[in-house]
Amino acid sequence: MNIHEYQAKEVLRAFGAPTPKGKAAFTVEEAVAAAKELGGPVWVVKAQIHAGGRGKGGGVKVVKSIEDVRREAERMLGMTLITHQTGPQGRVVRRLYIEDGSAIERELYLSALVDRETSRIAFIVSTEGGMDIEEVAKHTPEKIQTFHIDPAAGLSAHTGRSIATALKLQGDQVKQAGAVIDSLYRAFVAKDMSLLEINPLVVTKSGQVICLDAKVNFDDNALYRHKDVQELRDPDEEDPSELEAGKYDLNYIKLDGSIGCMVNGAGLAMATMDIIKLYGEEPANFLDVGGGASKEKVTAALKIILSDPNVKGILVNIFGGIMRCDIIADGIVAAAKEVSLSVPVVVRLEGTNVQQGKDILAKSGLPIISGNDLADGAQKIVAAVRGR
Ligand code: ADP
Ligand code: MG
Repeated sequence: MNIHEYQAKEVLRAFGAPTPKGKAAFTVEEAVAAAKELGGPVWVVKAQIHAGGRGKGGGVKVVKSIEDVRREAERMLGMTLITHQTGPQGRVVRRLYIEDGSAIERELYLSALVDRETSRIAFIVSTEGGMDIEEVAKHTPEKIQTFHIDPAAGLSAHTGRSIATALKLQGDQVKQAGAVIDSLYRAFVAKDMSLLEINPLVVTKSGQVICLDAKVNFDDNALYRHKDVQELRDPDEEDPSELEAGKYDLNYIKLDGSIGCMVNGAGLAMATMDIIKLYGEEPANFLDVGGGASKEKVTAALKIILSDPNVKGILVNIFGGIMRCDIIADGIVAAAKEVSLSVPVVVRLEGTNVQQGKDILAKSGLPIISGNDLADGAQKIVAAVRGR
């Protein structure tokens, strides 16, 4: 789960991380009031969307008067901001963050993530912070350094100093950076983050080390123990069908292809997507209905798949183990009664109660094509969406 920059900064502040003062605003008047409260003389008007690269796209503006705060707020609120992370369709700006402007001496890069290879939290840092870290990674990867943290020992003062040294900080700034890194590490662990990116971490002209931007991603599997984090969710930033799927505990991810997939088991779901590609089409989604799906869950899943206008056909691929084939068949029939099956559906069932499942589908009178195995099912749905 992602949150906005202003929310991330609030989370980090609670752990002692230094950030500029700022206030969120949902309207132009709120933005102006926030600017007056902050007092200036320099403000930054920042569009809040769940994507980076806002600065380059016109979503971050440094201004020196209340009138300019108003002008920028008017311009940004409601605009579709396109950045290299939003895709060409962009994101509509509905919230702003009005922040104290900092006098920047140096812009550094610092992020933390869970490194799967070492099973450790890793800090990734670079002296080349700011807006172009992707370019740094591409052209001068030697300017990016990684530090792994031993989970048993935690973050040591020594590692903090090593990171600060890698950032070419000196004197008191080494101490400040050590404290910043320590607070970020504690926040990361306590809140079950999966990614924390401070780009830029800056040294101000007066020598302060502060977090000027903050991007946080939380581990969805740990959200159940962070009610406070769940409340930061912004549904406007999420795909509506993924939100709906979340309510039914379905693992659903929307994709851009034309063939909807309903599968049990993440591995089988991936294999199903692969085989659709192999036969020349693209999957419209990843969907794992899970091991013990109920009729209601299957119905919800089918409705979600059908709500995607790109879906030209559906491939149901179920291996009945814990999940029984007759339950899936019941779900498909029930869903088909509620929503019209406007696209061809190929069902491939195998395993527990497969015959009952097939009988239910055959007796339903629904125009369902039966697939004998994975390859046969995939070929049939590809042929069906191509009108053959
Ligand atoms: P994004 O990464 O989405 O482009 P940032 O928050 O990193 O957004 O802002 C982009 C740039 O704007 C920063 O690299 C920095 O140079 C400048 N900036 C951002 N916030 C401030 C601030 N509070 N004071 C001064 N400059 C800022
Ligand atoms: Mg940034």
